[in-house]
This record gives sequence, structure tokens and C-alpha cells, in this order.
Amino acid sequence: MFFINSFLSSLSHDVGIDLGTANTLVLVKGKGILIREPTIIAQHKKTRQVLAVGAEAKRMIGKTPSMISVIRPLRDGVISDFDATESLLKYFVSKIHESRSIIPKIPRPRVVVGIPSGVTEVERRAVQDATIRAGAREAYLVEEPMAAAIGAGLPTEEAKGSMIVDIGGGTTEIAVISLGGIVINRSVRVAGDEMDQDIINYARSRYNLLLGERTAEEIKISIGSAYPVDKESKIAIRGRDLASGLPSSVVVTSGEIREALSNTVRVVIEAIKDTLEETPPELVSDIMENGITLAGGGSLLPGVAELTAKETKMPVIVAEDALTCVVRGAGKVLENASLLRRIKICGGAR
Ligand code: ADP
Ligand code: MG
Repeated sequence: MFFINSFLSSLSHDVGIDLGTANTLVLVKGKGILIREPTIIAQHKKTRQVLAVGAEAKRMIGKTPSMISVIRPLRDGVISDFDATESLLKYFVSKIHESRSIIPKIPRPRVVVGIPSGVTEVERRAVQDATIRAGAREAYLVEEPMAAAIGAGLPTEEAKGSMIVDIGGGTTEIAVISLGGIVINRSVRVAGDEMDQDIINYARSRYNLLLGERTAEEIKISIGSAYPVDKESKIAIRGRDLASGLPSSVVVTSGEIREALSNTVRVVIEAIKDTLEETPPELVSDIMENGITLAGGGSLLPGVAELTAKETKMPVIVAEDALTCVVRGAGKVLENASLLRRIKICGGAR
């Protein structure tokens, strides 16, 4: 009997989910990260029928007929659309579930979901209910900075201060963690999306050129920087000339793009400095020793770590595989009974 039970539970595939403002990742215990998709859903405006999810929905941005809306329900780190969030979760969980449906009676998975720390109690409940409705046996919620710190391998359980800065799409989450808990936490609604917007604004005001969001993101990823680290480069950008209304192209330098991004980068760094100022001195000296860890897609912007180090006078490290820290942290929580229990005590499960 014991054997059968443990065999069944090994098939139950406990699941960790990073419900990010830009990207959702799903990890299945024992199998690794199986899903990495944008947190985007395309729906029919009237019937709310789901037309596309993830990468397929992202391709529709800026190209939809009037009856289709493309939504990013967590864009600002809060849940702006409960139904869309539930549809997203259902879609991702069902994708994992599909492969199992041939074998009946396999226990449904336990699911740990990493959510932005800014979501309200009502929103937490909604995510939890949606996860259960999506097919989870038990649903636990973990705050993203905690999951990111665990995923980045920081000594979160020790009596030692660790600082994690997760620069995502819609939000930057900054937290100081010690003894398994968040001591100080700050969430600002400025991150990768805002940088894309900076590039759009720059092209409009400097070159009278209208860019789409996806083009702006591509420019940021190809030549964006926060600090002069690489060799300077140039890129041709295409958009619509605002005067003639016709397609047009200009060449911009990496220096121009860096200048365009600088205000947003500065807001992020100021938030880190403010958080350090509020941090108790004992913990600051730990951070001084071990450094500030950056995670999330925004931490991949070249020079962001160098500039942060210069401005804070602290060592700064970009976490390994920065885009997957949260989901790997959620996965580690699943494997660790005492961590899972603590999340439960904190009101995670019901
Ligand atoms: P979230 O957790 O909020 O879903 P992610 O951690 O997935 O966000 O990060 C997404 C953000 O990171 C997007 O704004 C994306 O443009 C940005 N990003 C991804 N790769 C890079 C890169 N190489 N350089 C700069 N920004 C990047
Ligand atoms: Mg994230």
C-alpha cells in the first residue's frame, strides 16, 4: 500500500507557477520548467471566449480587429481582470494535466504560485480559488521576492540579511529577507515595460517616429543598457513617420537608448537606496558583505548591476538564470515540507 501511494504521489507532479506581470513559468516537480509563456490572453470582447494565450496572444498585440482584446491582467502587479487571470491559470494547469489524463485516479497536483507582493488579500483569494478550480488539489501562494530569493539560492532561512531586487515587466520588487521572512519590502510599478515606453517616447519626440510596444522591447533587448559596458553600437529602427504617416526608418545609437532609459533606471536605483535606508543596520552590514542580488528580466539589461553597485556602494550580483528564479524558488518550496508548512500558516492554503 505504501508503495502504491508513493508511486501515485510521484505521478501527482506537484507544480510551481510564477505568475509574473510579463511572463508565466510553470515547473513540474521532477521534470523541470515545462511552460514559459507571456502572461497575455486574447479574448472576444463580447463573449469573453478565449482566443489565444501566451506567445500566440502576444503576437496579436497591436494587430487585433475591434472585437478582440489582448489583455495582460497582471500588468501593474495587481490583478486588473479576475476572469482573464483565471482563464490563464486554467490554460496553463490544463496543459500540464493533459499528459496525465490517460491514467485515471492520479492525485491532482499541489500547486505553489508566486504572485507579486502588491496583490491584495482579495486578489490572493481569487488566485487561490482559480488555482483550485484549474485542477489543483491544494494551492499555496508565495510572495515573489521570497520565491526569487529562494530560487537565487540566497540563505533566506539564516539570521543573515539578503537583499533581492526582482526587475520584472510591470513591477520591481525589492525585499530584505532574514530568518525565513521578509523584513522590508517595496514594490514600484516601474520596470521593463516602462523602459519600452521610454524608447517609444524617445523615438516620438526625437525622430517623430511612432513605434509599437513590441518593436520598442526588441530595441531595448538588442542595444539597451544602463551603463556603458559594451562597445557602443547602432541599430536601424522602423516605425511610422508622424508627419507623413508613412513607414520610416532611422538609425539610433546605444548611447541614445541608454539616455532614453536613464530616468526609469534611476527610479529603480532610488527605490533600492530608499529600501537600504530603511533596513536595520545589522542587516545592511550583511548585505554589504554578501551583495545585492538582482533577478527578473530587467536585470539582464547590460550595466544595470554595475550602475547599482556604483550608486549604492555595495557589491551587486545578477542571479544565475535570472528569468527563472521565482519559479525555481516555488519548486524548492514544494520540495521543502517545513517551508510549505510555513506558507500554509501564513494563510497560503485553505
Ligand atoms: P515578470 O516577472 O514581471 O513577468 P520577467 O522577469 O519575466 O517579468 O521580465 C520581463 C521583462 O524583462 C520584460 O520587460 C522584458 O522586456 C525584460 N527583458 C527580458 N530580457 C531582457 C534583456 N536581455 N535585457 C533587458 N530587458 C530584458
Ligand atoms: Mg517575476
